[in-house]
Amino acid sequence: MLLRILGCWTPYPRPLEACSGYLVSTAAANLLLDCGHGISAQLTRWLPAEKLDAVIISHFHPDHYADLYAIRHMIRGAIFLKTRQQPLAVYLPQEPAHLFEEFAAMPELQVNAITAGSSFMVGDVEIRPFAVHHSLPSFGFRVENNNQSIVYTADTSYSKSLLDEVRKGTDLLLCECTLIAAEDELSQQLGHLSTLQVGRIAREGGVGMLLATHFWPGYNVGMLQREIEQEYQGKLIMAANTVVVSI
Ligand SMILES: [Zn+2]
Ligand SMILES: [Zn+2]
Repeated sequence: MLLRILGCWTPYPRPLEACSGYLVSTAAANLLLDCGHGISAQLTRWLPAEKLDAVIISHFHPDHYADLYAIRHMIRGAIFLKTRQQPLAVYLPQEPAHLFEEFAAMPELQVNAITAGSSFMVGDVEIRPFAVHHSLPSFGFRVENNNQSIVYTADTSYSKSLLDEVRKGTDLLLCECTLIAAEDELSQQLGHLSTLQVGRIAREGGVGMLLATHFWPGYNVGMLQREIEQEYQGKLIMAANTVVVSI
C-alpha cells in the first residue's frame, strides 16, 4: 500500500494546503480517507478524481468532509465528459442524519452507511470501521491489504478500546495529534489526543511506525514531535502534504 498525505491541518489549513485527507493506493484501488477543506485540489496533484474508487468519511466535522461537495462535482463532470461511467462509492456515518441524507440524494454518489464491527472491500483493500470517542459519532478505520495494516484513528480522545484496536497489529498508525502536552487534561472533554497520549498509544500499541497528523496551524510541528518523543522512541513521521509512505 502507498499512503499519501494530502492534508494534515485542523480546523483550517495553512496557505495552499488542506485539512484531513489521506490517499491509499494499491494495485487495484485508490481510496480517500476523509476529505476536508482543500483536499479536492490536493488530490488532483496525484490522481484525477475520476480514478477514485471510494471516499470514506470518519465523521461530519467540516475539516473531514467539506470537500466532498467539490469531489461530487468532479465526478459529475467526469460522467458528463464520459471519462467515468460509475457513481463514486462513498461511506458515511449515518449521523447527523440530514447530512447523510443530503449526500445520499446526489446521483453522482453511491452512498453506504458505516457501521462499527462490519467490514467492506474497496478493490483489494479491506476496511474495518471501529467507533471512537469524539464530539460527534465518529469512526476510526483498520485498512488492510496484502497482510499490511494501517490504523487511522480519525478524531478521538484516549480510550482503552482504541489501544486494544492498535494492539491487534498495526504496521502504520495514522494518529490524530490535536493537543499539546499542556492541554493533556482537556483531552477527554475536547474529544482529541495530546502529543503525550499519541506517543503512549504508539508505544503501548507496539506499532511498526507512527504517522502523527491533524495539527493546529498555530503550533510548531517540531515542538509537537519533541513532545511525542518523550513517550515514544520508535519510527515517527510528522504529517506534511509532501509525505508518501510505502507500507
Ligand atoms: Zn472532529
Ligand atoms: Zn478534525
